[in-house]
Amino acid sequence: MPATAAALMSMPGHVDPVPVVRTPAPRPDGRTDLIGLSKDQLRTALSDAGLEPRQAKLRAKQIWHWLYNRGATEFSAMTDIAKAQYPWLAERFAISRPEVVEAQVSSDGTRKWLLRSPDAQDYEMVFIPDAGRGTLCVSSQVGCTLNCRFCHTGTMRLVRNLTAGEIVGQVMLARDSLGEWPSQPEGRMLTNIVMMGMGEPLYNFDAVRDALRLVMDGDGLALSKRRITLSTSGVVPMMARAGEEIGVNLAVSLHAVRKEVRDEIVPLNRKYGIDELLQACADYPGANNARRITFEYVMLRDKNDSDADAHELVRLIRHYRLPAKVNLIPFNPWPGAAYECSTPERVRAFSEIVFQAGISAPVRTPRGRDIDAACGQLKTAAERKSRAEMDREAEAKLMALG
Ligand code: SAH
Ligand code: SF4
Repeated sequence: MPATAAALMSMPGHVDPVPVVRTPAPRPDGRTDLIGLSKDQLRTALSDAGLEPRQAKLRAKQIWHWLYNRGATEFSAMTDIAKAQYPWLAERFAISRPEVVEAQVSSDGTRKWLLRSPDAQDYEMVFIPDAGRGTLCVSSQVGCTLNCRFCHTGTMRLVRNLTAGEIVGQVMLARDSLGEWPSQPEGRMLTNIVMMGMGEPLYNFDAVRDALRLVMDGDGLALSKRRITLSTSGVVPMMARAGEEIGVNLAVSLHAVRKEVRDEIVPLNRKYGIDELLQACADYPGANNARRITFEYVMLRDKNDSDADAHELVRLIRHYRLPAKVNLIPFNPWPGAAYECSTPERVRAFSEIVFQAGISAPVRTPRGRDIDAACGQLKTAAERKSRAEMDREAEAKLMALG
C-alpha cells in the first residue's frame, strides 16, 4: 500500500485533524472546465486565454447564461457567439458533466447515480421524487473523514473534496436527466436540494459555497435558498460563515443528547461538544420561527432512544431557545454496522414526547433502501471493490510470508 494511502486510512472513532487531503488532478486533456466558475472567474479565464477585457466580459456573460440557464454542453449551441470563435473556445475549455457509471431506480421511485470524476474518484447522488416536489441529495466529498459509527460513508478509506464544478455538476446532471432546461421557476420536478449525500459539507466550505451560489443565482440555476438545506455533523467554527456566506437552511446531525453517547457515535463531538454546537445553532444567522433549524436524530436501539433522551432533547432545545424541528431518522442498516434500528413503538413514543412539548418531530420515511440510497448507506461500489482487492493483497502477503 502506498504511504499516502496508509496515512489516510480511517480508524473507527478517530477524528482526522486535517480534514481533507487530496486535491483533484488537472484534466488529462489540459483544458479548463468552465463548470463551477463564477461569472468573474469565467471572465478571468477568458482574458487569461487572450481575449481583450471588453470581449472577455461580454463573452463571460453570454457563456455563463448558456451554461447555467440553458444547460448548454457544447459551444456550438451558443447562438449569440460568432461561429468562428467555437474552435478557439473548444480547444481551451471544456463543459463537463460528471460521468455516469451506473444509474439505479428503487421500487419507490428514488434514483441513485454512481458518478466518476476524470481522476477516477467515485461519488453518488440521489433523487427523491415526492408528491409535488423532488429533492436532490448532493455529495460534497468522496467519502468522509468523520467516521460517525452508524454511517457507511464514514467507513470509506480514501477521501477527497469535490470541486465546486463537481458539486454544481450533480445538479446540472439531474436537470439534464429530468429534461428541465432552460431553468424555469414553474413546474419543475427538481425543487429542493439537500447537502446530505457523501461527505461533510463544512469540511469543504469554499467549494460548497461557490457551488451553492451558482445554484441560487437567479440568472442561472435559480433555486431559492429556502429550498436548499445544508446538513452538518457539527463543525462549529464554520457554522456562522455558512449562515453569512451561503444563507441556506441548516440541518444539524445531533443524534444524541449526552456527551458519552455523542462522543461514541459522532466522534467530532470530542472536538466540538453539544453545548458549543447548540450555542452555534442559537447564533446561526437567519434562523427564526419561519426558518427553523432541523435537528436530525438517528434512532439507534437502546443507544439514544429512551424517554429520558427525548425529555433531555426538549430541555436542550428550550434552554437554547432554538427555533427547531426534529427529524427522526430510522437507522438504515448496512453490512457490519454495530447498531440496530429502534423499534417502531420506541420511535413513536420518542416522537410523541417531543411533539407534546410543541416541537415538530416527524419520522422520516426511509427512501430507496433497496438500492442502498437511503441516509448513511452511500458508499461506492468502486470503494467496495478496492476493499476486496486490498483483502486479497493482504492475503497474498501473508501467504508470501508463509
Ligand atoms: N455529513 C453530513 C451530511 C450527510 S449525512 C452530516 O452528517 O450531517 C445525512 C444524514 O444521514 C445525517 O444526519 C447522518 O447522520 C444521517 N445518517 C448517516 N448514516 C445513517 C444511517 N445508517 N441511518 C440513518 N441515517 C444516517
Ligand atoms: Fe460523515 Fe455525515 Fe456520515 Fe458522519 S454522518 S461520517 S459526518 S457523512
